[in-house]
Amino acid sequence: MKKTNTYLHNPGYLKIELMLKGVRVDGKVLKKAGFDKCRDVANIACGLDIILPHNTWVTAPYAQDFVNDSPYELIEKDGGFFITDGNKSVKVSIAPIPEFYRLKTTSGVQLSKIGLVHGGYVAITPATQCDFFNKDIECRYCAGNLDINKGKGTVYTVEDVLETVEAAYKEGKAEVVYLSIGFSETADGGVEFLKPYIRAIKKHFNTLVAVEALPPKENKWIDETYAIGADSVLYNLEIFDPKLFEEICPGRAALIGRKRYLDALKYAATVFPSGTVASHLIVGLEPIESTVEGIDFLAGMGVVPILPVYRPSPRAKLPHYKTPSTEVVAPVYGYLYRAVTANKINISWVRDISVVTTPLEGRFFIDDNARVKTFVQNFYKSRLGLKAAWSLATLRRKLRVKVSSRE
Ligand code: SF4
Repeated sequence: MKKTNTYLHNPGYLKIELMLKGVRVDGKVLKKAGFDKCRDVANIACGLDIILPHNTWVTAPYAQDFVNDSPYELIEKDGGFFITDGNKSVKVSIAPIPEFYRLKTTSGVQLSKIGLVHGGYVAITPATQCDFFNKDIECRYCAGNLDINKGKGTVYTVEDVLETVEAAYKEGKAEVVYLSIGFSETADGGVEFLKPYIRAIKKHFNTLVAVEALPPKENKWIDETYAIGADSVLYNLEIFDPKLFEEICPGRAALIGRKRYLDALKYAATVFPSGTVASHLIVGLEPIESTVEGIDFLAGMGVVPILPVYRPSPRAKLPHYKTPSTEVVAPVYGYLYRAVTANKINISWVRDISVVTTPLEGRFFIDDNARVKTFVQNFYKSRLGLKAAWSLATLRRKLRVKVSSRE
């Protein structure tokens, strides 16, 4: 019982616990939280977006069977919400389902199909096709969340995407727009496809744009990604161990290659501002020592490692992998925090993400002294800070692109 209480009062631990185990919630409480219609509105297997102390966002599963075994329950008392382990409780807030999920684009597409909010950003995949999908080379952990549509995928127009961003922006849900693309075998890594979307969003909204793409074959496309307006770029290696990378990500290994991922990340870190180039390493799909090696390697070249935890999905082709325990994964985030700060990487850009523990949240796994030192970074968590970040990003890009075009 003592151990659970320790987790309950540390937002970092509690976030991991809730992501892995989910939260039990009674139908009446769910209704009071405004979530009873979630599936109808969003048409997705959504989680409860909970805001823990210290503005720590988490998306907690609540509708799946496994949450019946969770030690955590969401309760409501005197109009407030609490997470309890049956003994102690902690006050939380529930982020309502975005209103824009109910709307449709002019062309008739429900906005929740195009954009999904995960904490402080809205994630949009303009083309849902992935050439790996349903083939021998698909990523073994793939949960098939994309609306792949029998291999053809769906392509949303720039207007569809702009209308979604506008609706999310009006609701204050699009401080960062996260654009991603599945696998497509073009030399530019998908940048040419994303270009009109990025340009249009940057033209119409005062928002930051993060791009999750594939490492392009040549570095000039990385320059181009920055020049057209992306503020942040992610090339997700997923697995650091070379052998496991080939086994678990056969498509990425064969058609892009681990070396190209690392070279592209290294180059991107020289183009984009500190803390805006990132790569996922999935915790739980390789030995922890290997994840730690990956953290050191990426942070050493100025890249932010982002560490999602693997939670098995029925569709994934990894039957022998189990959900890792909080005890095993928590220290990795403390290590991550130390690695990025030791390498003087700005950790304020990757923040307020509800589906993954951010490097900044790694401070919850180390001593209090270090937590205080990061307090100043909260400046960037405020709206004022984001506006400042946006202005600086625009100025930096103008200067850099001007210099590059002279070269
Ligand atoms: S790139 Fe991999 S994880 Fe992503 S949709 Fe394709 S197969 Fe799935």
